[in-house]
Amino acid sequence: MINALLFILVGFLTMEFSGWFIHKYIMHGPLWNIHKTHHTHTKGYFELNDLFSLLFGGIAILLIFLGMETLDFRFWMGIGISLYGLSYFFLHDILIHRRVKFFKKPKNGYLAGIFKAHQAHHSTRKRDGSVAFGLFIVPFKYFKNNRDE
Ligand SMILES: [Zn+2]
Ligand SMILES: [Zn+2]
Repeated sequence: MINALLFILVGFLTMEFSGWFIHKYIMHGPLWNIHKTHHTHTKGYFELNDLFSLLFGGIAILLIFLGMETLDFRFWMGIGISLYGLSYFFLHDILIHRRVKFFKKPKNGYLAGIFKAHQAHHSTRKRDGSVAFGLFIVPFKYFKNNRDE
């Protein structure tokens, strides 16, 4: 059981770290044309950028299928990636971008910090010069002075 939890964690963290890398060097690089639909979103519900979610979701489902019989590491990593995807969707799409208007802007604590960091990421609509590419792990400065604002 401890192995299962470990691989779930590995799947989750792999997503945050490789996601940071992919976001910074690929989405704000050669695949900017797809990702820019997220930075310049104007109308409609879907963005071309949602393709990335489908891709990661596909990888998770594939891993779960491959590891399903023996419940090996692939299965649990697939679960970890899915949990990441769900949390990402919840925080990034619902809480921060308000694709579903459930929650108000968080005022303090961890959520306010990642909220601020992601807003900083969106302060530019251009490919270059953006900051804060991770979602859950962001520079410490974004967690300071939340209460003063
Ligand atoms: Zn971006
Ligand atoms: Zn965003």
